Amino acid sequence: MNKKVILFAMVLGIVSLFTACNDDDDPNAKPEITILELGEGESHGNERTAKIGEELHMEIEVVAEGKIDKIQVRLHPEGEHHKDGEEGEHEEWEIDTIYTKFSGLRNTTFHEHLEIDLDAEPGDYHFDFIVTDMEGNQTDAEAEIEIIEAL
Ligand SMILES: [Zn+2]
Repeated sequence: MNKKVILFAMVLGIVSLFTACNDDDDPNAKPEITILELGEGESHGNERTAKIGEELHMEIEVVAEGKIDKIQVRLHPEGEHHKDGEEGEHEEWEIDTIYTKFSGLRNTTFHEHLEIDLDAEPGDYHFDFIVTDMEGNQTDAEAEIEIIEAL
């Protein structure tokens, strides 16, 4: 075998390695998450803000070759929101919820609203969107949300 043939064989090997990884029907492929919109519930907006006492609108595309098992949504305060002079330990409002109604689907456009409790403090929040498929693969998408006081 001359050098050219060896090189060609190597390139072929690399190419087939790539195609194996990109196989669309691979049940071991991790779920893919695309955050389309996060914003005011009233207008189904994409402002990345939500008002206290109102709702957060979420529109998120999910593709899971291994089929969706559950979707977890978490919203928790970023950093300290305690006001100065506040006494004692204070439970901060946060959301940690699991949706199972998408179970068994290979893809979906997740459109849900979260209620922002009147006890929520305004400020920066961390949004976590975690998809687990039936093969046990998990993907996490994150975003920053600002909770603001309703006028
Ligand atoms: Zn909406």
